Amino acid sequence: MIEIPSTVKLRLDGDALISNWQTLDRMSGSASAGAAIKANAYGLGSVEVVQRLQAAGCRDFYVANWQEAREIESHLEGGSCISVLNGVRAEDMPFAMISAAKPVLNNMEQVYRWQETGRSCDVMINSGMNRLGINPMDIARYDWSDLDIDIVMSHLASADEDVPQNEQQLEQFIDALDHVRGKRRSLSNSAGIALGKAYHFDCTRPGLSLYGGKQHAAYEKTIQQVAFPETQILQVRDLKIGDKVGYNAKYTAEREHPIAILAMGYADGYLRGFSNEGVFLSDKTMLPVLGRVSMDLIAVDISKAPDLGESDWVTAEYDLTIASRQSGLSQYELITGLGNRFTRYWA
Ligand SMILES: *Cc1c(COP(=O)(O)O)cnc(C)c1O
Repeated sequence: MIEIPSTVKLRLDGDALISNWQTLDRMSGSASAGAAIKANAYGLGSVEVVQRLQAAGCRDFYVANWQEAREIESHLEGGSCISVLNGVRAEDMPFAMISAAKPVLNNMEQVYRWQETGRSCDVMINSGMNRLGINPMDIARYDWSDLDIDIVMSHLASADEDVPQNEQQLEQFIDALDHVRGKRRSLSNSAGIALGKAYHFDCTRPGLSLYGGKQHAAYEKTIQQVAFPETQILQVRDLKIGDKVGYNAKYTAEREHPIAILAMGYADGYLRGFSNEGVFLSDKTMLPVLGRVSMDLIAVDISKAPDLGESDWVTAEYDLTIASRQSGLSQYELITGLGNRFTRYWA
């Protein structure tokens, strides 16, 4: 088959990924940082991410479901663990019984189901987020001594905000730990690590900040961008005063200037919130997005880089803090939304 070179590429910075994990591991104090790699490592590619983080010393990996566990199982080194955050349904049991991964037990039905296997597991406590997890009442009522529990964990709902809920969840978690004991305890996601020592316990579970997310001021200077969406110019044209650009004519030229049409669009996850707000970069030169983002095309102003031409490459400004402000999307949506048309490459 003849290779067809892609018009959209996602450049992934392996050094930045490792530096981010080391930063989060260091900030976790005496606790060790794991890595949330659900949703294909937030869209970056879970196998590559696992291999790189293992080489740096990361040992605990968190996926959402058993399909994701299977994806990375054969890449685990000795001493590494996978936790399946969404738990174990009845229909997961045939695979779970032969898998190297362990379920995070989220309700009492899962506890009864898993207890019979005698295999290792984690336990999720509902400390007030009311998503998945066992309520403190049920934790206190049950005799956990027959289960082989590795991590007892809970999850913070608002770690990226300075609100009383963080401390309330911390207290609920500590109370519940009187009644259920595992080998290790874990509470914090990326933003939770920045809340300080009381939130660290034995292991932490960062996801977003590994991949460049900065949901806490402490990360603005230390966490580095990992994912850089790149695309090619398909056409260059000159606008005259009054010329309009794109669907519904959301940009009208007030001066004569050149524009470039790029081979990326909202089908790639560069959503319409970037219309008239986003920026692309050619080296350091900023190229503002003009008009609506289309499904497969974007127009940018190249007044400041008039030498750009067909087949040249440009990079989306995708610092997650900045891109979130431009688009109105969350940092999570920005990183997980990058689509399948991107050729992902590590550099
Ligand atoms: C996704 C997730 C994490 C990682 O959260 P980030 O905010 O991305 O750091 C940690 N723990 C649980 C239970 C999760 O679902």
